[in-house]
Amino acid sequence: MVKETGFYDTLGVPPSATPDELKKAYRKLALKYHPDKNPTEGEKFKQISQAYEILSDPKKREIYDRGGEKAIKEGGTGGGGGGGFASPMDIFDLFFGGGSRMHRERKGKNIVHQITVTLEELYNGATRKLAVQKNTICDRCEGRGGRKGAVQVCMSCHGTGMQVRVHQLLPGMVQQMSTVCHSCQGQGKRISQKDRCKACGGRKILRQKKILEVHIDKGMRDGQKIVLHGEGDQEPGLEPGDIIIVLDQRDHGQFTRKGEDLIMSMELQLVEALCGFKKPIQTLDSRTLLITSHPGELIRPGDTKCVLNEGMPMYRRPFEKGRLIIHFSVVFPKANFLPEHKLKELERYLPEKMDAEQPDSMDDDLYIYADLEDCDFENRRRYRNECYYMDEDDYATTGGVQCQTS
Ligand SMILES: [Zn+2]
Ligand SMILES: [Zn+2]
Repeated sequence: MVKETGFYDTLGVPPSATPDELKKAYRKLALKYHPDKNPTEGEKFKQISQAYEILSDPKKREIYDRGGEKAIKEGGTGGGGGGGFASPMDIFDLFFGGGSRMHRERKGKNIVHQITVTLEELYNGATRKLAVQKNTICDRCEGRGGRKGAVQVCMSCHGTGMQVRVHQLLPGMVQQMSTVCHSCQGQGKRISQKDRCKACGGRKILRQKKILEVHIDKGMRDGQKIVLHGEGDQEPGLEPGDIIIVLDQRDHGQFTRKGEDLIMSMELQLVEALCGFKKPIQTLDSRTLLITSHPGELIRPGDTKCVLNEGMPMYRRPFEKGRLIIHFSVVFPKANFLPEHKLKELERYLPEKMDAEQPDSMDDDLYIYADLEDCDFENRRRYRNECYYMDEDDYATTGGVQCQTS
């Protein structure tokens, strides 16, 4: 039992969630609420990061499960860095492979995109086209912002990029405040209006739409990242950032993937379970597999069988495949599917009944049973209440008291 579930609720997972489920939940929410996509949801983005930061660390998760958010804030991590949270952006970058902040500062911004893929695409491989908006260095001025030699030192800040303001708080007491220079936005340099590049208006970069091809290899997984190095935002003087594509697999109607295995369920009629069956399955590459029982074999409800080499292809070794695992369920015939005399006939073919031991004396009522859902405590109490005003005779003739206990 966990003390509180707030962090789990934030990520929309139960407290029993596995590390993989936590990752998936964070991935979906972080992409949805990232300030690039949802500038007004900063607070939500922060909460998601904090919840993930704690729950993804087994030690911190244990502390949280035992003592709740309070225990985390008190820093009970045993020297593990106290109760402070990392910045949501750092968590995001770490998760999506943007590298550390130090690294990021020498590079243009990474762009993270999620694309939804089908299980068929992960099985067969696919190429997808993706339109992205990104910053590119202006061709016309080669990122200078104007014609050659047009760049001048900013007169407002004398090239420092900062302006110092002096506030008088009280007579004789002043406060110095440095702010980023307004005239040059901290660049220290300016280009006069008439010399500015016509294409980019002096901003040195252009916002452009670009179509990218994304190759999805056979065997890739839900959550896998494809990094397109150097395709992210460009900025003058910096290495371009990356585009990071995250695959999001849509649920499949028939198969569930677990590692390299595919799992499916198959329903058999009682006659098929007892007397054998042949059932076709459509594979993810549109072949038909005929699933056939061995002669004389019978399938019990809940049996599991597997077909080798019909699971998912292995990533980078696509000729090797996992298993196809089939869980069987058995549909029994409806009540009264045979008239009584035919049942007697059927009985002849079935294994013999086992003789029950007969106790010396027995109350007849003990033979009567009911469905489990009719026997739960709530139902019985309601029933008793409803019957409260009946006299004993009515009670006996309703026939509803099927749940005898001795
Ligand atoms: Zn330009
Ligand atoms: Zn300036």
